[in-house]
Amino acid sequence: MELTTQRFKFKRLFLMILFVVLLPSVAKELLIQIYHLEFKNQLWYDILGSATMLLFSTPIFIYLFRKTDKTALTLQNQLVENKEIHQKLTLSNIELDYNANHDFLTGLQNRYRLFSVLNKLTAERSELAILFIDLDRFKSINDTMGHLSGDKFIKLVSIRLKQAIPVGAQVFRHGGDEFVILSELENSRAVKIAESILEAFKEPFEVNNTLLYTSASIGISHLPEHGSDSVTLLKNADRAMYRAKELGGNTFKVFSQLAENDDQKQLMIENDLRKALETEQLLIHYQPVINLATGRLKSFEALVRWNHPKIGLVPPGEFIPVAERSGLINDIGTWVLESSCHQVKQWHSANENLGLAVNVSIRQFRDPQFPSFVKDVLESTQFPPHLLILEITESMMQDDLESVRIIEEIRTLGVKLAIDDFGTGYSSLSKLGFLPIDYLKIDRSFTMEMLTHKPMQSIVQTIIDMGRNLDMELIAEGIEEEGQSTLLAQCGCQFGQGYLFSKPLPSEEIERTYCLSTLLKVK
Ligand code: C2E
Ligand code: MG
Ligand code: MG
Repeated sequence: MELTTQRFKFKRLFLMILFVVLLPSVAKELLIQIYHLEFKNQLWYDILGSATMLLFSTPIFIYLFRKTDKTALTLQNQLVENKEIHQKLTLSNIELDYNANHDFLTGLQNRYRLFSVLNKLTAERSELAILFIDLDRFKSINDTMGHLSGDKFIKLVSIRLKQAIPVGAQVFRHGGDEFVILSELENSRAVKIAESILEAFKEPFEVNNTLLYTSASIGISHLPEHGSDSVTLLKNADRAMYRAKELGGNTFKVFSQLAENDDQKQLMIENDLRKALETEQLLIHYQPVINLATGRLKSFEALVRWNHPKIGLVPPGEFIPVAERSGLINDIGTWVLESSCHQVKQWHSANENLGLAVNVSIRQFRDPQFPSFVKDVLESTQFPPHLLILEITESMMQDDLESVRIIEEIRTLGVKLAIDDFGTGYSSLSKLGFLPIDYLKIDRSFTMEMLTHKPMQSIVQTIIDMGRNLDMELIAEGIEEEGQSTLLAQCGCQFGQGYLFSKPLPSEEIERTYCLSTLLKVK
């Protein structure tokens, strides 16, 4: 539409120009034809022609000038407008870019920016330290004070972090209560930075007139030792941070591949251990406890074993700590207690005085339901309570009321208690007199040395005397030689167990080795 109007205008203009050009000759003709006015001199016609042309062309020129002027002005305005639009666009681009790279709450560079900076630095630099920071107990601040206060707190934390780091390091908000610091200084300075951050957090943060305290767990990874790309470096700093958290927080840890490998092995054991219970890979070996004076069998200690389908027999020392950490120990302990009570109850048909010792882990022991669980097992297996000995360690008889309550409840059932590995843990002798303990088990480390190292003999003698004075019976562990057995008996130790008498054996072998029908005398 616009184009047609434009074309029409041009046509009109062209006709007008044509008209103006032809006008002088038309004017001449008109003078001659209409007014019969003829000049002798051609000059007058020329003057008349030029005047007519000038007269008619002037408005055209004025029109053209005006038109050109208007177009020029429009163009000029358009240019100014374009420039303004361009400026606005550039500004909003800068704003968009800033928002995309910065955290809205703290104004710190965000996670997206972290990756781009980290990618660039890992490609350019030969040394770089990454500090992964996670606040300890931030969730409780958020939960108790509300999210708005939590936001204010995070803001203050970010300011303090910026103040705590040196020139050459920059801080990013990774998300939530996690921050990352990239230090381009020498890697050895990373530890110093971590220390100054921990120091800076010792001062409280004031949010809504309330003083809030926090600490941080910091993981450190280094380029090039702990990875060459940003993903690995950040992941490893994060792993190290978890390690710091596991230590209780308010500390830092430098990434260690060795610790990681250990963790992976533990994780593998933990996963396999879950299956082990379901697929009956666990079994119990029984080690006889002998009366050192008579040589007769007193009881068996139940010792759990794991027959791993690929690795073979795994000793408890390797999987019990994993089971304790993962909580699986409760299921394992339940199974050991039930199975061994059931087994030894069957052997009671040959010797009704046969005792059974079962190891109890600290996690089982701390379970408030533990005494009632023991009661249930005794009832369901019909096992006589006085023949059951639960072996606990020195660390379990701490001075807390809960341990004392559990010990007393177990004793009310009629079950006996032994302190295992006595002398190796931190026992408070003052507690020993107040707790209803029936047996002290002298640790293998004493038995092993008592023949070769005279002072050790005195220590063993002291333990035995102390136990006897407290009305406890003594069981020596790890007896491997005849001499040890004789000396222990001379020192007053009543019972003993060890390879000299027998290794821990599976139940079928126990049944084969010991003639159950003849009151289970030692071979
Ligand atoms: P513990 O209760 O002190 O058991 C004695 C350990 O010494 C057993 O190791 C036994 O095989 C070993 N031993 C016995 N006599 C000798 C000897 O003459 N020489 C040597 N070198 N060793 C001897 P094991 O079976 O490897 O058990 C290690 C530890 O694992 C146990 O120490 C106990 O603390 C724990 N444990 C075993 N079974 C269980 C269980 O069912 N539950 C819990 N919580 N812990 C268990
Ligand atoms: Mg034991
Ligand atoms: Mg022991």
